[in-house]
Amino acid sequence: MLSPSLEDYLEEIYRFSIQNNVVRVSDIADCLNVTLPSVNNAIRKLHQKNYLVYKKYRDLVLTEKGRKVGKFLVDRNSILQKFLQEIDSQCDIEAEAEAMEHYLTLPTIRAIENLLHFLEDNQECREKFLQHCEQRKKMGLGLKDGYQE
Ligand code: CA
Repeated sequence: MLSPSLEDYLEEIYRFSIQNNVVRVSDIADCLNVTLPSVNNAIRKLHQKNYLVYKKYRDLVLTEKGRKVGKFLVDRNSILQKFLQEIDSQCDIEAEAEAMEHYLTLPTIRAIENLLHFLEDNQECREKFLQHCEQRKKMGLGLKDGYQE
């Protein structure tokens, strides 16, 4: 298992590698808005753990293990983003999925994935659900923010 921070690096390297032929340290620094030394530090660790091969300040190439885990991380993130869209959460979806992905266990994410497939196959259920949400909102129901004065 990788730390949440290394997972985010690997996720971004994989995401970048499926859209571009060449992945450079500077590309990843730009994507994640971090400094080159931090990327180099992460790259070194990913290299030690056999997720990628690299030449300093040059191209990054994922190993088979790196591609496999990278795909998992990208898929996990998109499942959670899709989930937040489907339940019509009024949150910052990217930021929320980013936080959830490191804390939810695989069984929970698989359960969410099943729910998404179910809703996709049963659009009428999703419509009913959204109407239900709308009704509750109109009636002023739902969790009250206990921190709000
Ligand atoms: Ca991430």
